[in-house]
Amino acid sequence: MALDTAWAIDWVRRTAATIDEHRAELVTLDREIGDGDHGENLDRGFRAVLEAVDGGSFDTPGAVLKTVATKLISTVGGAAGPLFGTAYLKAAQAAGDASELDADTLVAVLAAARDGVVSRGKAAVGDKTMVDAWGPAVDAATAAAAAGADPAAVLAAAADAAASGAESTEPLVAHKGRASYLGERAVGHRDPGAQSTAYILRAAVEATT
Ligand code: ADP
Ligand code: MG
Ligand code: MG
Repeated sequence: MALDTAWAIDWVRRTAATIDEHRAELVTLDREIGDGDHGENLDRGFRAVLEAVDGGSFDTPGAVLKTVATKLISTVGGAAGPLFGTAYLKAAQAAGDASELDADTLVAVLAAARDGVVSRGKAAVGDKTMVDAWGPAVDAATAAAAAGADPAAVLAAAADAAASGAESTEPLVAHKGRASYLGERAVGHRDPGAQSTAYILRAAVEATT
């Protein structure tokens, strides 16, 4: 299916559902190397997003993404609220007023989200943060689009890379966020924000089916 407004709305619904489903797991991951609230923070945020999207009317994917951004910024707090909020805000700007996202626009949207997270949090790939999911996702999407993949396949490549990227945080020492206070004790634990990023991108793929 085309990455149009209906897709963006379905992405929101599926994201809210997957975050709810994985809330306890995200809490557990954050309890191991943070303060244990990541699952609650995101679940609260995406419930508010869902309410806003269900109660609104939208002409473009960008308008949906903009609403996600403003709701996350006003409800999530902590580190992840401003980071995901900025990601969705920059994504919305990159989507502009396109009625659907073609492969190149999708790459631009994902890259803008990653760049928003990086400019806000100053983390690089390897610092054991959500950038470890966003970075490889954008690289994979860029390669897939260059190889001529359609938008759904570009998105699938991004989501697969984000999942691998989340897994890749396990052996790392953290250099940003709360986990950086733990030094070597963070080794062996997956970064919660990288994992939630992978779930969010997986939901985007499922909305294309
Ligand atoms: P808090 O740490 O304030 O409790 P959350 O638990 O909701 O916030 O989110 C923690 C996640 O935020 C981490 O797992 C990590 O992925 C992400 N994060 C924290 N600091 C940064 C940063 N500087 N850059 C990118 N991501 C970060
Ligand atoms: Mg936390
Ligand atoms: Mg917190």
